[in-house]
Amino acid sequence: MSAQTLLTELSYFIASILFILGLRGLSHPDTARRGMFMAEFGMLLAVIGTLLHRDIVSYEWIIVGLLAGSTIGVAMGLWVPMTAMPQRTALSHAFGGLAAALVGVSEFLRHGEHLGTFKVTALGFEVLLGGITFTGSLVAFAKLQELLKGQPITYKGQNVLNFLLFASAVVIFIALVLNPGHTVFFYAMCALALLFGVLLVLPIGAADMPVVIALLNSYAGLASAATGFALGNNVLIIAGTLDGGSGFILSILMCKAMNRSITNVLFGAFGSASAAGPETGEEGVMREVSLEDVATQLAYARKVVFVPGYGMATAQAQNAVRELATHLESRGVEVKYGIHPVAGRMPGHMNVLLAEANVPYSQLYELEQINPEMPTTDVAVVIGANDVVNPEARDNPKSAIAGMPIIEVDRAKSVIVLKRGRGKGFSGLENPLFFKPVTGLLFGDAKTSLARLAAAVSEL
Ligand code: NAP
Repeated sequence: MSAQTLLTELSYFIASILFILGLRGLSHPDTARRGMFMAEFGMLLAVIGTLLHRDIVSYEWIIVGLLAGSTIGVAMGLWVPMTAMPQRTALSHAFGGLAAALVGVSEFLRHGEHLGTFKVTALGFEVLLGGITFTGSLVAFAKLQELLKGQPITYKGQNVLNFLLFASAVVIFIALVLNPGHTVFFYAMCALALLFGVLLVLPIGAADMPVVIALLNSYAGLASAATGFALGNNVLIIAGTLDGGSGFILSILMCKAMNRSITNVLFGAFGSASAAGPETGEEGVMREVSLEDVATQLAYARKVVFVPGYGMATAQAQNAVRELATHLESRGVEVKYGIHPVAGRMPGHMNVLLAEANVPYSQLYELEQINPEMPTTDVAVVIGANDVVNPEARDNPKSAIAGMPIIEVDRAKSVIVLKRGRGKGFSGLENPLFFKPVTGLLFGDAKTSLARLAAAVSEL
């Protein structure tokens, strides 16, 4: 083994360890930042190791790619707002899938029929998964960016057609493995993969996209692992497998937190009129409360729990809630935050926003931790959350969200809901919490209401 190869393999080995430690770090908010740095450093080592590879004959195009990629990456990191993070991630996965598929195509063009069965199998996987990820992620991006309508796009016989399409792609893949020289099989498989990616994601509602994105992330990872097998590159195999595994586990965890199965997310067209079913929630009169009343209630409470949801993210109200909390704490009020695992539109959405506003991690409580505290909570303040506090999920077994764990704010002594009007949550269901005697509604944009509450509390 030459010194150059040794250096490359050594950098891959250290990078792989750093990826694993990075993932481990990401499993807790306290260590997440360090985990991210470790993974970034691992990626830097892997890139440097690859640049030392003896097969590289010219660096010009690599430098062009590096500059273009870094410019786009830095621009996206700096200017894409937190609320647009799901679609940003979808776009990154689309590029990841495309890169894997293109490497597969170039390898096939270069070596074609001389590839052995093993390499053709690896290339086939790479192109199949890379193609699906590319177009699937682009559709996910278009839905989240509202370039396409967010509701599921459905038609009769959709699932059967999708299944037939996927089965055809797999049959052609097997035919290609048996006859690696038949380029027509290769291109037919590429075309079917691209088409399947579009048709797979079209029937999925925009709000289910985070689960789909995690799943596509997992496909992109597996495509990279297949690339690693095709190119004989160890770090790609390890990183791709880690990516594939973690993406899959994340999608399962999100499904669990919504009490839905992965098949229901992929094939259930949740959010369409037929899938949502009849509304089971009761209608009634909402009790509107004044800002002054809420400010007084909060200022003289012993314990206040904030429960943020998607509305806090759209209103960008994280700093305003932190400011209100600071005023309350200075008056001796105990403040906690109840975080539902699928509040918002992506995993960890609330944690990231609150961290951005410097809310201490120690004040963030998970659903299982905060629910037992609800009966001793004087005021639960719901900030733009709806489904994650909907008691129908607990009380009505016929509800479309039955069984989804909720933050039980209705068990608190008093509930204040900050929302703009009578808008429903992602599930499209009415929420009986809003009509309970314990609940008062403070209408308006969450950020404005919180800022005005903070000012009112400071003057009391
Ligand atoms: P939600 O059910 O979507 O409800 C959001 C509420 O915020 C709405 O009722 C809306 O009412 C209010 N709102 C919107 N903009 C606002 C503003 N500027 N100021 C004040 N209020 C505002 O949100 P959630 O309770 O967080 O539930 C999340 C949903 O997304 C769940 O159903 C979950 O299953 C789903 N989901 C989450 C993930 C994830 O990873 N987090 C993934 C997939 C699906 P108004 O219009 O009346 O203001």
